[in-house]
Order: sequence, then structure tokens, then C-alpha cells
Amino acid sequence: MQPRIILRKEHRISRKQISPNVLRTLYRLRDNGFIAYLVGGCVRDLLLERTPKDFDIATDAAPGQIKRLFRNCRLIGRRFRLAHLHFQDEILEVSTFRAAAPSDETDTEEPSPDSRPPRHLKDEDGMVLRDNVFGTPEEDALRRDFTINALAYNIADFSVIDYTTGLSDLQARLIRPIGAPSVRFTEDPVRMLRAVRFAASHNFVIEPATWEVLCELSSSISRASPARLYEEVLKLFLLGSARPVFGLLHTSGLLAALFPALSHWLSEDSRHLAIVQANLEDLDRQCQSGTPPSPAFFFAAFFGPSLEEAALARSRDGITRREALDAVCAEAMKNFCKTVSIPGRVGNQLRDILARQPSLHRRPPRRPSLMVTKPWFAEALAYLHLGVEARGEHGAALKWWDTFLAGGTPAIGSEPPNGEAPAKKRRRKRRRRRRPAAPARRMTSDA
Ligand code: ATP
Ligand code: MG
Repeated sequence: MQPRIILRKEHRISRKQISPNVLRTLYRLRDNGFIAYLVGGCVRDLLLERTPKDFDIATDAAPGQIKRLFRNCRLIGRRFRLAHLHFQDEILEVSTFRAAAPSDETDTEEPSPDSRPPRHLKDEDGMVLRDNVFGTPEEDALRRDFTINALAYNIADFSVIDYTTGLSDLQARLIRPIGAPSVRFTEDPVRMLRAVRFAASHNFVIEPATWEVLCELSSSISRASPARLYEEVLKLFLLGSARPVFGLLHTSGLLAALFPALSHWLSEDSRHLAIVQANLEDLDRQCQSGTPPSPAFFFAAFFGPSLEEAALARSRDGITRREALDAVCAEAMKNFCKTVSIPGRVGNQLRDILARQPSLHRRPPRRPSLMVTKPWFAEALAYLHLGVEARGEHGAALKWWDTFLAGGTPAIGSEPPNGEAPAKKRRRKRRRRRRPAAPARRMTSDA
């Protein structure tokens, strides 16, 4: 197929938008007779006048040739070798053009005569297990996920190359897979999450026929590896569009497949949905103000209200609130990890944020000056904030802390604005000091 070439004067990409290291790398490849393209999301974002998150370079130079050209090059990956160029403040990825697995190829592929594993491999359902073969620039474009992610910027003449309908989809703000959506989502279910992410973060629409297929195949997301899903979940929720991402995940069925227990809790009461939505809006505000929350804080904002409710119900069965919360968190983490492997460290931080809430709710808190020095304090207080904003709970406690942190003297036990009863001052029972027991007299026969 003939690509559409958009000449330098017909598009808006300027070299000023491209980092100097990237430009130097492209020029050196070109000056040594190789094809050198910027590819993937960075071309999409440059055309949209957004700052790209990262720059990817594709070339017809083989990994060994790249290594010989750049002293700062390290080759990574065993079967498909990628070049990483190490600069002082960034690492650039340079890959040799690759081809995708043919769509009718499965793991029935004959092993090669020298008994090396096959370069392409799919399981019996069509999910790609291995995809390792060099290709042409066109094949490299067509193996990519969406048309808007398959554009290339050619350093030889500064033109943009479009092998699919990337440019028109970009103009129409459409997310469209390259090829049949059912095949592309089956080959790699994570592409469904990527579709949702780009739609939400770029304010694009998932093309209607694609959306239908995505909803049908949503439950197959659990076939992707839990470690990869964890990384994708962070990208979905920590980049400033958690609220629209959540909407798309929820309506498509992806949320139910990723986090069944949360999805069930959301369906129980419309207030639950409102709480989670409000929390995610707050996270987005944090991202937009330049202070992205930690993964643990995101999970607290997302799962906290449901876990706290479960812990409260359990503590009524006679175990302490802390014990109940520990048990509920441990069970939830075990369940999450079946689909999304949240690291244990993050799970512990999430539990800590929730477990510290009662000590923040006390008025006055015990030893507040010491509390503020603790590593968990900032996030626990931020969670208290969320509760006040989303549920109107513990407003008086937050007011106490705000005054305290501003250097004022909080009115201890003052009537809170939302009419909550001030915490009762607990009286300590005085215990009578026991007299030391008199040593027992030895009753011996010789006494
Ligand atoms: P971001 O702004 O998040 O970096 P991106 O599109 O650049 O978006 P990357 O994960 O950096 O996303 O991937 C770079 C490129 O690699 C994509 O634009 C796409 O062309 C290709 N790609 C990434 N993941 C897949 C996938 N699962 N299937 C096919 N192509 C993919
Ligand atoms: Mg990228």
C-alpha cells in the first residue's frame, strides 16, 4: 500500500518541539545511511501540539549497527533486541523495524529446523505470546495498535508518513485499531485499556464498532498478565484523567473484569458510585496541580471507602476495628492479585492510610506534633480530606488539623460545623495500685 506523505510545509511539527538528544540521534542514523523515523505516540502528540511523554525512534539499522554508531548504547532484550541510548537525563529507545505475527498464525507454527523457538507465537485463542521478527517500515506501522499511533516522522525530509488512516482519525478525534478490532484485542487484551486511556486523556471517541467489540471482549482482559495489568492500571489512573477513564471502564465491563468486588460494591448503592467518582476527580486535580498521588494513595481513594465499610461491618462481629481492617485489606489484596498484581508494599501503605484514620478523627488527637513527623501522615491526612469532600464526614477533625497545621490553637472539642457530636472525652479509670503480694509462707514439714 502506498503511504500518504504529508510534506514538511503541510504539517505543524517543528523540530523545536523535539528534544536535542532525539534530534542528534535521528541525524546520526540518517547521516550513516539509515532510515530514521520518530514513531508512535510522540508523532501523534506533536501533531496535536501536546508535549509527548517520550520519544521512540525506529530505524532499519540492525541492533548491532546501532551499537556501533552510539557509544552510549546498551542492547536489551534477549530475542527482540532493543537499543537504549543513555543520556545524562534521559534514555531513548531505538528499535529496528518489526513485523507483526500473521493473523492466521497460531502456536501450531512448525518449530524451526535448528529447534530454536518460533519467532511468532499465538495461543489457541489468538493471543500473541511472542512477536519477534524484523520487518519493513510499513510492517512496523501496521503492527501498532491504533491508527493514530502508527504515524511516522521522517528525519530525511521532515515529512509525516501515514500507512493507515491515522491523520484523518486524528482530525476526527477517533480511536480506531489497525485491522479488525476483535483480532487486535484478542492478540493483546491490554489494547482495550490503551483505547480507554487515549480516549480519556486526549478527549477522543472510541470508534463505535470498536467500542461494541471492546464491550463484548471486556472480560478477556483478565487473560493479560497481572504484572502488566498493574502497570497499565497506574497509567490509567495516575495521569490526570482518572475520572473519564473510570467512566469508560465502568460502562464497558472492563472494571468488573479487573476488580469484581469493587464493581459489585458500586452496584449496591448509587452513593457508592458518587463517592468513588468524587475521589477520582480529586486525584485528577492533584495531578493537574503537578503533584501526582502515589500508587498507594490512588488505591486508597479507589478502594478505601468499600474496604472501610467492609471493616466496619466486620468489627460489629466482636473483633476490633483494626483487626477487622487488617483482615479485610489482606483478603482484598489476595483477590486483586488474581488479576492485577498490586505489590505487597503498596498494599501495606494502602492499609496504613486507612488504619490511621481513627487517630486523625480524634479531637484532640494524641500527640499531634509527633504524628506530623510520621511518613504516613501526609497521605493519611489527604485521605481525610477526600472523605470530607466526597462524603462530608469528619469535617470537624479536618478543621482541627487545618488550624493546628496553620500554627493556630485548635478549639478542643469545639462543636463541628456539620453538627457531628464532638468526641467524648474518655475518662481514664483510676486503678488502685495493687499492693505487692506478701511472699507465701512455705509450709514445710520442718516448720
Ligand atoms: P504515551 O503517551 O502513553 O507514551 P504511546 O502511544 O507513546 O503513549 P507507548 O506505550 O509509549 O504509548 O508505546 C509507543 C508505541 O508503541 C505506541 O504508540 C504504539 O504504536 C506501540 N504500542 C505500544 N503498545 C502496543 C500494543 N500493546 N500493541 C501494539 N502497539 C503498541
Ligand atoms: Mg510513548
